[in-house]
Amino acid sequence: MRAITVVPGKQGSVACTDMPEPPAEDGPVLVQTQAIGVCGTDLEIINGEYGSAPPGQDRLIIGHESLGRVVEAAPGTGFTAGDLVVGIVRRRDPVPCPACAAGHWDMCVNGRYTERGIKDRHGYASERYRIHPEYLVTVDPGLGKLGVLLEPATVVAKAWDHIERIGHRAAWAPQTVLVTGAGPIGLLAALLSVQRGYQTYVLDRVTEGRKPAMVQRLGATYVQSGDFGEAGKADIIIECTGYVQMLLEVGAQHVRYRITCLTGVSAAGSEATVDPGRLNRNMVLQNSVIFGSVNANRHHYEMAANPATSRPSWTSPTPSPPSTISSAGEPNGQGLESPEVTAPSSTRATTWPLTSSVRSGSISMAPMKKHTAPIRVWLSARAALCTWPVTGLM
Ligand SMILES: [Zn+2]
Repeated sequence: MRAITVVPGKQGSVACTDMPEPPAEDGPVLVQTQAIGVCGTDLEIINGEYGSAPPGQDRLIIGHESLGRVVEAAPGTGFTAGDLVVGIVRRRDPVPCPACAAGHWDMCVNGRYTERGIKDRHGYASERYRIHPEYLVTVDPGLGKLGVLLEPATVVAKAWDHIERIGHRAAWAPQTVLVTGAGPIGLLAALLSVQRGYQTYVLDRVTEGRKPAMVQRLGATYVQSGDFGEAGKADIIIECTGYVQMLLEVGAQHVRYRITCLTGVSAAGSEATVDPGRLNRNMVLQNSVIFGSVNANRHHYEMAANPATSRPSWTSPTPSPPSTISSAGEPNGQGLESPEVTAPSSTRATTWPLTSSVRSGSISMAPMKKHTAPIRVWLSARAALCTWPVTGLM
């Protein structure tokens, strides 16, 4: 079968290559890939800066943001042919550590976890893959191709899960949320915030383009850098840029019991002016929390796939239905045309053209149409373009 592969550590090695069919030991569910998202982590792997192949192999099949359809599933797996699914990225370490043993592999403490398409395991950018049902999540078929956004959505689902766990260390009634960065991760974070009923602000630098309108369509308020206004008093901040200075500017505001979650990754060597005394006073005297969040476990995939039903009952305020994103597909859910969505990106806010029909734009979903065109996975103009026909699946 064809797959998008790299030789880890070797820049320029990305190619569409023939690879063996997925082995039976990979799991009893066989899935045909429908779409792959490409994010900053993939870019690092393609540039030879990150990633590792399975032991004893030279090439790594990339792809950790995925959407597929079940081709065959053994009885008792809980899946049937035709199910629209997303594969989980990380696998527990073999020891396992206490976190992995509890299914919290996103919090692995010994670093011996593996990740499909990233670390010691082949990814999903192949025509087919096999998988154990423990690491597979069903997606509402009405989402169509938008289901490929599930993995990046799990990043912010986990962020929200941990924010709310921290918040409930005491009586807590947050009202406002500030998301820094209107890239794909920021928009998804804002979406989940609006779904929770919070007054939501999204901060970004641009004054033109689609971002301001997209934020508005989510039901949030767009804020330009340097003009925080009410957004500067937010009870919760979700940082999605990796731009440290922006965080410090916002963090200078005195807000009691503020919880700040960092999801963006900064480049090493960046410099910013910090007053450690002021930071200390803000943290201690306001009972504030700043914490980092990366990756996701199965619970977060389920949160992202079923946001209305998988929220903990103790969270507040009462969630409201999403204002602009809903499953608007055909009743049988077979359509996969999604004309206006944002291409996903995990941690670096890098926007890529995803497929011919999934591109940067607004996040609202239009009614879906029958679609029989081949799936195309674009890496970049200078990299590989793999095209394989998908028959009888859409
Ligand atoms: Zn572990």
